[in-house]
Amino acid sequence: MSEPKIYVEIEGTPVPIEECTWVQTAPCGCECAWTVARYHPTYDDAWNTFSSSKKERERNEKRGFKVKIVRHKDIRIKDDCTHTPKWGVEPPPTPEGYSWAASLESRALHLVPVVIEMGETTSLDCGPKETIKTLCGRASAWVWSRRWYETEGLIECVSCERAALAVKA
Ligand SMILES: [Zn+2]
Ligand SMILES: [Zn+2]
Repeated sequence: MSEPKIYVEIEGTPVPIEECTWVQTAPCGCECAWTVARYHPTYDDAWNTFSSSKKERERNEKRGFKVKIVRHKDIRIKDDCTHTPKWGVEPPPTPEGYSWAASLESRALHLVPVVIEMGETTSLDCGPKETIKTLCGRASAWVWSRRWYETEGLIECVSCERAALAVKA
């Protein structure tokens, strides 16, 4: 027996899933990501491949990111977006001298009063003698990181964001 065919309905027409791709559209309208429909058949599967955590997905949905299924030929993915702000999302406010980082325990990205480059952590040897407290005052830790595997899926702390806007104002 041959493998059963799976079809997706696009604008009222059944299309074999092999001919389809899920695309994510940013709030500015640009298509920013795609995933093969055959390997991620459901709408939820697609959303999950576009987000590295439940929190990130919820925030992206709130921000106006959309996920739709199209035929391969209708993909309009852009490598870059020329809208302001890029992809229709304001970058998080970052006061001078601060970085968005995560500690081992943190469940969100917080603003800490140190400049940490991408892919770095504050170091224990040449680092501060005391723990570093976040701008929101809700957490403190010895080591803060901006390494992708420690920050992936975490979203910016709302209290830090608010505090940052107050610093800027
Ligand atoms: Zn755009
Ligand atoms: Zn915070």
